[in-house]
Amino acid sequence: MLVMKFGGTSVTKPDSVAAINTLVQRELNRQPILVVSALSGITDLLVKLSHTILDYEQEDLFEQIFMKHDLWIKTIFAANMDLQTSAFKLVHDYLDQLRELLHSHGLVNQLQLHDSVVSFGEKISSALISLFLISNGVNAKQVLATSCIITTKQFGGADFIDAATKKACKKTILPLIEQGVVPVITGFIGANTVGETTILGRGGSDYSAAIIGYAVQSEEIQIWTDVNGVYSADPRVIKDAKLLKQLSYQEAAELAMFGAKVLHPRTIQPAVRADIPVRVLNTFNIDNVGTIIAHAADNSDGTVKSVTWKKAVPLLNIYSADMFLSKGFLQKIFAVLAKNNISVNMLSASEVSVSVTLDTIGKLDDALQELNKFAKTDYIEGFGTVSLVGEQIMNKHSLMQELFNLFQATSTQVQMLSYSASNINISMIVPTDKIGEIVPLLHTKFITMSN
Ligand code: ADP
Ligand code: ASP
Ligand code: MG
Repeated sequence: MLVMKFGGTSVTKPDSVAAINTLVQRELNRQPILVVSALSGITDLLVKLSHTILDYEQEDLFEQIFMKHDLWIKTIFAANMDLQTSAFKLVHDYLDQLRELLHSHGLVNQLQLHDSVVSFGEKISSALISLFLISNGVNAKQVLATSCIITTKQFGGADFIDAATKKACKKTILPLIEQGVVPVITGFIGANTVGETTILGRGGSDYSAAIIGYAVQSEEIQIWTDVNGVYSADPRVIKDAKLLKQLSYQEAAELAMFGAKVLHPRTIQPAVRADIPVRVLNTFNIDNVGTIIAHAADNSDGTVKSVTWKKAVPLLNIYSADMFLSKGFLQKIFAVLAKNNISVNMLSASEVSVSVTLDTIGKLDDALQELNKFAKTDYIEGFGTVSLVGEQIMNKHSLMQELFNLFQATSTQVQMLSYSASNINISMIVPTDKIGEIVPLLHTKFITMSN
């Protein structure tokens, strides 16, 4: 079996939609399982819709959502009125369901409503892509991930539950494969143990693909996107970024965690657990080999393989009057953050304080309130991270010196620095407004000029 995930641009543009058919036909004997994202821009509109209460604003959003699908249907099924009729029916049915959900929202809490609303993007796209494949003679079937990815209860960014997901995936997907069906599964979404719809976090369809690959033990997890693979930096920003042939799981995980949008940060975790290679490929250039992510790293790409950044990274400084080294202080902090579904990317500690960088998925206000019961906290915005990633990063002895020279030359104030224990990543917290200036300099210095 082969899991093939197609992202937003890939399921939207006519050329790449045609490529999905070519690829599926080409790989039929490897038993493809498709995972699809919503059409481009739809999830953003649905997020807005979930926060809107005014009728006329809701109607405007419904109209925008409909028009994007309308254009898709008229373009992809241009030559076939019957297919257009079926596709329109399907979109109308889903939008009716969505309206009903919004009108009955008194029954559910806001977070739960949000996840149910945003799940419609993938529900519609998976139905449209299956219809498109069927019209090309593929025995395809839409599958809602609510029947195969079983998650924890945190709305907004749930995680999958291993045993329950394996069981559900096997029950839902394997019989289809045995019958020669190509499942077209909704990315991004799952259901908690009581059947309520959850999401895996923004950009989460990559993670869905990895979870499904892990659960059915696929031979490979393919992430089909709109660039040739993983580059030494975002190729849309750094024009001379290099395509990386191979990355280790650890490198890919760090790269994703520290800002490379090409992969959802949690994608690697299920893949590495089952030792399944992940390949990042381009739907607009289907014969390229892409980037392979597996155990071994190919160090011919150089010491520093990639520069990544995140523009907005909230920083939390926590001080304690009675010495933070007192027993259990860190444990207490992390318990509060974990309870509120906030994860920490970087940490630095001194005798009396601890500074952490946060992701913003969880319930920050609740976490701060609890922390303030036993410590003093400062929540700081206006900073971001820049990171250098590569397995051999430690071997470059002049690295630190060169880094500090660069920061001095650009008058960049480094707020915090973290040298990961695994030696794969150096990350710096710097003012957000400096990132645009220093990223190209870092890329030129440590990648272009070093190879
Ligand atoms: P999809 O909709 O297919 O999931 P995304 O937009 O989420 O696609 O991710 C692909 C984008 O990631 C690319 O268009 C590229 O601009 C961006 N990106 C950021 N960092 C990198 C990197 N290091 N290598 C490749 N792409 C990157
Ligand atoms: N459609 C979702 C998003 O925009 C998930 C994804 O594309 O991976 O976040
Ligand atoms: Mg993505």
